[in-house]
Amino acid sequence: MKILIVEDEKDILSFLKRGFEEEGYVVDTADNGQDGEYKIALNHYDIIILDWMLPEKSGIEILKCIIKMEIKTPVVLLTAKDEVKDKVEALKIGADDYVTKPFSFEELEARVESLYRRSISKGSNTIEFQDIIIDIPSKQVTKAGSIVELLAKEYELLLFLIKNKNCFVSVNKIYDAIWGDEEFINSNVIQVIIYRLRKKPGKDLVKSSRGLGYKIEL
Ligand code: CA
Repeated sequence: MKILIVEDEKDILSFLKRGFEEEGYVVDTADNGQDGEYKIALNHYDIIILDWMLPEKSGIEILKCIIKMEIKTPVVLLTAKDEVKDKVEALKIGADDYVTKPFSFEELEARVESLYRRSISKGSNTIEFQDIIIDIPSKQVTKAGSIVELLAKEYELLLFLIKNKNCFVSVNKIYDAIWGDEEFINSNVIQVIIYRLRKKPGKDLVKSSRGLGYKIEL
C-alpha cells in the first residue's frame, strides 16, 4: 500500500514515515502544501495523510483540490484543532477521517487500515484484475468465468497481497496478517500456498523476490 504524508513538522514526519515503513507501507512525503499537492496530482496513492496547518497551502485547501480533481483516494486529516466546528468543517469538505494531535501511531495506523479496507470494497463488492474476479461477500474467485476453488488460507493470502498490491510483502508480515497469534507454522506453508495460487488463478500472478517477499502487480 502506498501512502503520502504531508506534514511540515519534521519530527512528526520522520516518526510517521519510519512507523509506516516498518509496517511495510511504501511511504512518500512532502513537508509543505505546494509539494504535497503536486505529488497528489502526479502520483497514485492508496491513502493520503494530510496535516491541517501547512506552509504555502493549508490541508483544507489541498483537500478542496483533491475533491476538484476527482481523486478518490481517502484522506486522513491531522489536526491540532480540537474544536467540533473544525472537525465538522473537515468532514463536510470531504476528509474521510481526522486525528487530533497528539495521537498515537497505533491509532493513526488503525484508521488508515480501516479507510483502506472500506475504499477497496466501496461501491462494488468485487475486485477485478486481469481475467480474475473476486467477489468479497461470497469469497468466490473466478478466472475467465470459471470458479477457482481456493482454500481459506489461499484466499486470505490472495486478498492480502491484493490489498498490498505492487509492494513486496515480507514473509513475516504475511505470517502476522494471516496466522496472527496462531501457533508457529512451518515456513514452507507460505511457499506452498504461493505455489497453489500460481497453479490455480495464474502462473504469473504472484511475483517473488528472495529477501523481499511476495507481491501482486495490478
Ligand atoms: Ca503543521
